[in-house]
Order: sequence, then structure tokens, then C-alpha cells
Amino acid sequence: MAAEWQERAKCRGQDPERWATANLPSASRRAMAALMQCDGCAVWRECGFAALEMTDFNGMVVAGVAFPEGTNKIRHARKVLRVRLGLPATEPRAEMPNHCADCERPLVAYRATKLPKAHARYHGHGLCVGCYSAKRRGVAA
Ligand code: SF4
Ligand SMILES: [Zn+2]
Repeated sequence: MAAEWQERAKCRGQDPERWATANLPSASRRAMAALMQCDGCAVWRECGFAALEMTDFNGMVVAGVAFPEGTNKIRHARKVLRVRLGLPATEPRAEMPNHCADCERPLVAYRATKLPKAHARYHGHGLCVGCYSAKRRGVAA
């Protein structure tokens, strides 16, 4: 389902080929051409924030930034877009939640020297070590 802002997109109803990175000029004129492609779009910020959440726009110009195919190029394009949106260029590290998403025990860092009573060590993906390995084994914790 299209988001409300997409109705106001400059590219709406246009030939998507015009936003394909393959059709951009090469090298030095590329970044400017990408910028011009989305110039004047009223919803470029919404588009940009949505793009940071997605992965399937490779090969397209999004929010004035070219996202050509290729992992390193995408990584660079994400940085450019983040800066354009006023975010720090580097992606934030996923933070440890306060509680395990499964057993809800309070968490301490995996390498913490002390494990207080009723706490659990954090593994990642929102889960404590026990719940994570239980999930991997495919059994309920
Ligand atoms: S910023 Fe560009 S890609 Fe995004 S909605 Fe506007 S015209 Fe389309
Ligand atoms: Zn747990």
C-alpha cells in the first residue's frame, strides 16, 4: 500500500527509467544529475527516511541520491543520504535493550564481569543468550 506522501511524489506516474542510475551520466556529473532528478520534490525527506529502511531500491535515484548496484556503492550512498537528511553519516550501532524480548529478564552486556541475580547476558537480536540459543535450536525457552 502506498504511503500518503507517495501521492505527492514528483516521480509519481513518471517513467521509472528516468530514476534508474544506469541512465545517469558517469563520474563527476553523476551526483548533480541525481540531485536534479528529485529537485523540487515536496516529499524528498519522507522518501529519504523511507529509503533508509528499505533495501530494494538498488539501481535507482532516491531522494536525490544515486543508489547504484553493489554493496560498497550502496554503503556510500546511504552515508550521502544520511548526511542529506541531517543524520550522522555513520549508522548507529544497534543498542542493547533493557530487557530480553522473550523472557523479559533485565539484560547486562555479554562481556559484563558481574551477572546480577535474575539478570541475563545479552546475545543480540533483542534476546538474552539463553533465549537466543533456544530459538536457534527451535525450542521454546
Ligand atoms: S525524492 Fe525523488 S525518488 Fe523520492 S519521491 Fe521525490 S522524486 Fe521520487
Ligand atoms: Zn531471554
